[in-house]
Amino acid sequence: MAVRQNVSPHSYAGHVTTLRDPLTQVLGKKASDTFEKVFGLRTVGDLLRHYPRRYYTRGELTPLDSLSEGDHVTVLAQVAMTSVIGANIPGQRPKAPPGRGPKQRLEVIVTDGTGKLQLTFFAGVGFHAKQLKQGALALFAGTVSSFRGRRQLVHPEYELLPVSAADDRMTTELAEEFANELIPVYPASAKLSSWTISRHIDTVLETLDAGEDPLPAEVRAKHDLWPRELAIRAIHRPTDRDDLRHARQRLKWDEAFTMQAALAQRRHAAAAMPAVPRPPSEDGIAAAFDERLPFTLTEGQRSVGDVIAHDLACAYPMNRLLQGEVGSGKTVVAVRAMLQVVDAGGQAALLAPTEVLAQQHYRSITALLGPLGAAGQLDAGQQATRVALLTGSTGVRARRSALSDVFTGDAGILVGTHALLEDQVQFADLGLVVIDEQHRFGVEQRDALREKVAGSRPHVLVMTATPIPRTVAMTVFGDLEVSTLSELPAGRSPIATHVVPAVERPHYLDRAWQRVREEVAAGRQAYVVCPRIGDADDDGDGADTPEPGPGPDTLFDDAGEGEGQEARRPPLAVLEVAPELAEGPLAGLRVGIMHGRLVPDEKDRVMTAFAAGELDVLVSTTVIEVGVDVSNATVMVIMDAERFGVSQLHQLRGRVGRGRNAGLCLLVTEAPPDSPARERLDAVAATADGFQLSRLDLQQRREGDVLGSAQAGRRSSLKLLRLLADEDLIATAREEAAALVGADPKLADHQALKEAIDDFLGDRRAEFLDKA
Ligand code: ADP
Ligand code: MG
Repeated sequence: MAVRQNVSPHSYAGHVTTLRDPLTQVLGKKASDTFEKVFGLRTVGDLLRHYPRRYYTRGELTPLDSLSEGDHVTVLAQVAMTSVIGANIPGQRPKAPPGRGPKQRLEVIVTDGTGKLQLTFFAGVGFHAKQLKQGALALFAGTVSSFRGRRQLVHPEYELLPVSAADDRMTTELAEEFANELIPVYPASAKLSSWTISRHIDTVLETLDAGEDPLPAEVRAKHDLWPRELAIRAIHRPTDRDDLRHARQRLKWDEAFTMQAALAQRRHAAAAMPAVPRPPSEDGIAAAFDERLPFTLTEGQRSVGDVIAHDLACAYPMNRLLQGEVGSGKTVVAVRAMLQVVDAGGQAALLAPTEVLAQQHYRSITALLGPLGAAGQLDAGQQATRVALLTGSTGVRARRSALSDVFTGDAGILVGTHALLEDQVQFADLGLVVIDEQHRFGVEQRDALREKVAGSRPHVLVMTATPIPRTVAMTVFGDLEVSTLSELPAGRSPIATHVVPAVERPHYLDRAWQRVREEVAAGRQAYVVCPRIGDADDDGDGADTPEPGPGPDTLFDDAGEGEGQEARRPPLAVLEVAPELAEGPLAGLRVGIMHGRLVPDEKDRVMTAFAAGELDVLVSTTVIEVGVDVSNATVMVIMDAERFGVSQLHQLRGRVGRGRNAGLCLLVTEAPPDSPARERLDAVAATADGFQLSRLDLQQRREGDVLGSAQAGRRSSLKLLRLLADEDLIATAREEAAALVGADPKLADHQALKEAIDDFLGDRRAEFLDKA
């Protein structure tokens, strides 16, 4: 392999650039300020991780018909024609006196051999005309606009390239570049062109000494990986595609390995913390609870339960993620774990993401416990405990009594929202924290609850209904052990999902409302979901974050961006659809509304009424997305379904078919057939497998969005690694990293790796590692 060496008159012997050097030191203030402003790059390492977006092969021009208006592009193209327009032509009568009249402009048509693109220059006409002669080859950069229906670049920046080795513009330097077959094209902006970036990278590479390799030699040898410096040089200046492949593979490993080593360190530190063991007891409240259960536990519930029971009995904290399909019965698993802790003299807290969910958990847990949860009352069971509820809207008196029960230990279980995190909430002996629907919470919330235990750590169980592909679990939740409930309780009927194309087949929609009426006539209930609330300060996204606290976390919490048709009507809104239905197709039915901006009391009242069957139809936003459990609800009609993300739709439909009766979900959409939006909906209709859908979801979004704030490092940490495509690589890197950290937890003998982790974590290092 031959990596091009840059020999420049500016380099001088003995001067060495390292990855951690500030850019100012190498490029000077002006250039480095621009890099910082445009791309947030500060160090040499940052710049070298600004990898080319693609590589042009000479002779292979950019397809010009694939450019879209508004894009900032860098294209490789050849000049087909150059004409000066509006010029006063010598020998002819001037069209206008010099300096007046219509201004001259230069129009250049460039081509990729088939497609064409127009370049227009209004200034420097003579100069550019001389440069851009017919046949000239250049990189052109600019923002694509449109003029009289033709795409064009106005005043593009350009960089001429020699057309052949015999080109008269050929200097030594250019000749060298010419020998280089692959032309790197960097993510660029109007302020910083690809070739300017390229030149600065050259400057940095001249004196670069990347230092010790963070990846141990054994690991490199075992997995056939290039040394780091070689890979860094090759990804910027590849000789051929083979170079590139090696370079990328190695640099992907850097990302995966560094991240996994950081996570392994965190797991290691967590396991070193003391926790109070909470072993199960033979004849406690947990055993009494099992006896009371109105159903048999599924195989999965039983085996995951055993694993958790074992974890809780250990003297170091459990950190477990329980993932399971919607309706797989996670709550029961959690309650059994909480009761084991209560048996062992401790308390458990259940943290729910919304008021509605907290209230529902409270209701269903007290119902499941029956007399076992009524300590202090006459009919209480012998081993009874108390369940307390605490949310933002808990009244003063109820709040005081909940706080007191929790403080004295009379309440074995506390259910609530973020209100649980407040300082005033003090436990007698918090032994277990259960977090429902983790994707709404970040690591910070877990930490806040952990801190309520002095001297040791509570056990932590995180539950999520969004099935997570293996590698996402390994990265986002890399410090957690993962258990999965894959089967649904027996007797659960599958949910049938159909797409209702409201435009091509309006009668399907009529039929949908008729189905709702039929279900209601049979004594069952329905949801109608809309993307928007529709009140005065509705910003149109209908995303509900009813509780103050962390903003919606980004993991799978998609706002369902539709495909950009111009001038789309606003999404349908609860407050508009509900009255229309009540007066039209659903006239005579009892229609209620539910959304995030109802006051908490009202939310509770509506949910209670719906659960009690006092409402037939609930028109709602996605506030019902997670966990809402009304088993008599059998139909869900989702309006403007294309506005929701794949995983979100899957979550939503999980609200129906929770009982013995078959569930039906209708995805109403105006998206045209064959549009990407429609394909997504078809996919949701075609499969009930949440894992498959979450992969689809992940394919459609950038990793950064997925990792969001839950990710360990800075958003920009993952450049090359793709969570789905690189699954195997990540899994292997994880094993290697775990082995290395196991042997050298402080990385005392792996200084370079330690530094790489520091760089990877950036500002978040302290919270990430020290709060493990
Ligand atoms: P999710 O995993 O979506 O949170 P839940 O815990 O809310 O699911 O359970 C869904 C419903 O299934 C609840 O009504 C629950 O009581 C019921 N359920 C849980 N486990 C079983 C089981 N083994 N057999 C029958 N029904 C069950
Ligand atoms: Mg649940």
